[in-house]
Amino acid sequence: MIYDHHTHTTFSHGKGSIEDNVKVAVEKGLKSIAITDHGPGHLTYGIDRDKVKAMRDEIERLKLVYPQIEILLGVEANTLRVAPYIDLTEDEKKELDIVLAGYHFGILRAGMIPNYISNHTGLFSGEDSSLRVENTAMILNALYENDIAILTHPGDKGPFDIEDIAKACADTNTMIEINAKHKHLTIDEIKLAAKYDVKFVIGSDAHVSSKVGSFEEPLMRALQAGLDPERIVNIEKI
Ligand SMILES: [Zn+2]
Ligand SMILES: [Zn+2]
Repeated sequence: MIYDHHTHTTFSHGKGSIEDNVKVAVEKGLKSIAITDHGPGHLTYGIDRDKVKAMRDEIERLKLVYPQIEILLGVEANTLRVAPYIDLTEDEKKELDIVLAGYHFGILRAGMIPNYISNHTGLFSGEDSSLRVENTAMILNALYENDIAILTHPGDKGPFDIEDIAKACADTNTMIEINAKHKHLTIDEIKLAAKYDVKFVIGSDAHVSSKVGSFEEPLMRALQAGLDPERIVNIEKI
């Protein structure tokens, strides 16, 4: 793996510090890591807006200690059904080096209750269900209204139209993630997304530092889906 741009720390609900994550990334020979704690709209895990400055200061300090690796400050924003469709303001986005976004529970104005029910019972998940239509519209709006580098774990926690989402990712130059912690994209979803000219990225989504740089399982999923590994931008053959 060349870089891991999806990792969490104690600034949301990860177990390690920023430095713990950076250390593992250096040990694994990564060229770049992003610290991407959960967006501030999350009711229980969201970053405290007041701590972003402390995160930036810590990253500036670590850049001097570990000059061999690029360290980015990012956020894994939460998608919303209402404008601006993610839980970051324009000013907050300017403070970050990279913005990821994904759908999560624990967010207001994001259809949590029907998605929670759907996820646990299979209800409302049909091809043309209004929940699928609304969820997909939420993601498309988030992609077109914001400059999102990586769409995290698409298909997780509710019904989504992966083909429409992959098309929009290709159109907005957003990478679509194969996530090491979540089962989405699934093998079938990778096959659907691969029909479009979209770039794939593996994200460890590490919540403990030892998982930073983990890529084996998502790579296996990609290979089982018949995806050309050349289309995964952050792994290289050695
Ligand atoms: Zn996530
Ligand atoms: Zn995450």
